Amino acid sequence: MFGKILIANRGEIALRIQRACRAMGIKTVVVHSTADADAMYVRLADESVCIGPAQSSQSYLNIPAIISAAEVTDAEAIHPGYGFLSENADFADRVEKSGFAFIGPRGDTIRLMGDKVNAKKAMIDAGVPCVPGSDGALPDDPKEILRIAREVGYPVLIKASAGGGGRGMRVVRTEAALLTSVNMTKTEANAAFGSDKVYLEKFLENPRHIEIQVLSDNFQNAIYLGERDCSMQRRNQKVVEESPAPGIPRKLIEKLGARCTEACRRIGYRGAGTFEFLYENGEFYFIEMNTRVQVEHPVTEWVTGVDIIAEQIRIAAGERLRLKQRDIVLKGAAIECRINAEDGFTFRPSPGKVTRWHMPGGPGIRLDSHVYAGYTVPPYYDSMIGKLIAYGETRDEALARMRVALSETLVEGINTNIDLHRLIMSDSRFNQGGTSIHYLEERMAEWVAMHKDKDIKNAA
Ligand code: ADP
Repeated sequence: MFGKILIANRGEIALRIQRACRAMGIKTVVVHSTADADAMYVRLADESVCIGPAQSSQSYLNIPAIISAAEVTDAEAIHPGYGFLSENADFADRVEKSGFAFIGPRGDTIRLMGDKVNAKKAMIDAGVPCVPGSDGALPDDPKEILRIAREVGYPVLIKASAGGGGRGMRVVRTEAALLTSVNMTKTEANAAFGSDKVYLEKFLENPRHIEIQVLSDNFQNAIYLGERDCSMQRRNQKVVEESPAPGIPRKLIEKLGARCTEACRRIGYRGAGTFEFLYENGEFYFIEMNTRVQVEHPVTEWVTGVDIIAEQIRIAAGERLRLKQRDIVLKGAAIECRINAEDGFTFRPSPGKVTRWHMPGGPGIRLDSHVYAGYTVPPYYDSMIGKLIAYGETRDEALARMRVALSETLVEGINTNIDLHRLIMSDSRFNQGGTSIHYLEERMAEWVAMHKDKDIKNAA
């Protein structure tokens, strides 16, 4: 096992990784920007290294500075967390070439999955169900493009192969709009991602977002840790996640999970990863793979009892998976609310000093956050400041505990989306389970219309 790990991230995930390391008896080095110098988790780390100014391009994305920090502190491995450099294949390569273990997949696996056309091809070869669409990238010949779209059937979605974060996509509903849309997506993709490779797939009108968590070691052992339902989204950003996915037959999940583990073995996957799917009319369609730990990993940890970060570390240290598929039995239900420093209805970021911070507790409640009273949320980074997770023997019990937890929660000094979560957790349709990826935005439009004063406090 490693003696010392460098954490190349910030905020709640830096603290989460630090906690896993401490429980495993591993020393930690946390790198930070000048904006995060005073954060408690930075002071709690065994060592900390300032790697640059507030702007992430010069700090959390600064590869040479991070490698140097690992060198001067004698760290043996680097955990990238999520976001920042976690899915940067060149970073993974540089880390390993410099003699450190990268806590994640090999660079070439990240590269393969970062190119959506190639990733989809690899999944089709492994028998993972994909959205019907073009066979690889779209050709240049307009006649061919028209033929492919007609064959797939409208509406279709044009997607940039190198796209990410919900960008580089365009829905096309009629043939008349097709070629212009393809050209626009190509131009945008080239500007945003440096590649004009685009592909086409059937646009699903009302799907749910279901994902499969996997763990895979260096010895061809792969398991899946059940599924998560992340359909409660706004602008392709997840707001609430849960496990298991309400109302989906276990048999379907088991079949899908087996396909995902088979795909892991085929591509020689290493570490924790997530296969994301859209689910509509009883069918799953692969959309992409995330080659890192995800924000929503705690809901899976709770229903499976597996510490995903600890497993990532063990796999990177070359250990064999101790768990077999038959050891993974989902028990109960877990729901996560992402707490963001932002205005409730307008979503304008709300950085600043947290003057009061009172967080809930009790049975079945977990809080992953680096924030405390007196902490200042810097304006430079993602607005997520924590995650509140509730567990119950049943989904209803988890929801009831979450409602109580949210009623105890008090944050002052900045705005948060806690009131939005209160509304969601009391919404009857969400309580039934199984809402689509459009439900939250539709419901929010109703809430906003009902409360013209735009004050979410009154709505909640
Ligand atoms: P990104 O890497 O940008 O997150 P994804 O491929 O994961 O791209 O897609 C992001 C979101 O776009 C999905 O969660 C879903 O809401 C929507 N989406 C993607 N593909 C389709 C599709 N074929 N039909 C309908 N919606 C889709």
